[in-house]
Amino acid sequence: MYDELLFKSPYHGTPEYYYNQYLREHQVKQNKGERGRDTERTKTYRAEWALYDTNGYGREFDSIAEVQKYVTKVCNSKTYTKMWMEAYESRKEKDFGAILRGTNVQVSGKAARNGEGNAGLAYVEENRIVLDTHTGMNEYTVLHELAHCVGHPHHGRSFRKTIMKLTSRFMGKDAADALKVEFKARKLPYGEPRKPKTFDQWISAKARMEKIRNV
Ligand SMILES: [Zn+2]
Repeated sequence: MYDELLFKSPYHGTPEYYYNQYLREHQVKQNKGERGRDTERTKTYRAEWALYDTNGYGREFDSIAEVQKYVTKVCNSKTYTKMWMEAYESRKEKDFGAILRGTNVQVSGKAARNGEGNAGLAYVEENRIVLDTHTGMNEYTVLHELAHCVGHPHHGRSFRKTIMKLTSRFMGKDAADALKVEFKARKLPYGEPRKPKTFDQWISAKARMEKIRNV
């Protein structure tokens, strides 16, 4: 993370030490769920339920075989492969097997609790998704699970950036715009991460804050 900005072993209690701390916290905030609890999950789900009301979830599938055909098409697309490669760059140290498994995802129907609980589940480390055959046989649910399989096993910013691209590419602009409205309404970021302040910027922001406090 931010290797070019981090100070190497600063003394405890120095500004450089606190700046390193700021960098770590900044990074965690940019993609909640990537390191630690998946704190934006419920909010993201709410945005998606609202999408169902305003736009629907796209195509409905009649069989798992039909879903598999769709999934294979998505996984072979340039859009998917490119996003998968980008995510791979940041997770290759944690997930050695990813490159061997490749991008191809297998689909099956729920064996247990069909009709209850989640509409879909993603087993990211197995490149496998499982759908509820009552509630999960639609385009948006499939794309949601595929956004996990790209390499984002949470519901943070990078997951939303991915689902946004997949929605726009495979369900169209209107669906993507409707999803944007729901993310924005809940202040859920879905774009590029924000850059951290440089050490100089951080020092002057800190000085300004202290001045305000001392007035
Ligand atoms: Zn999910």
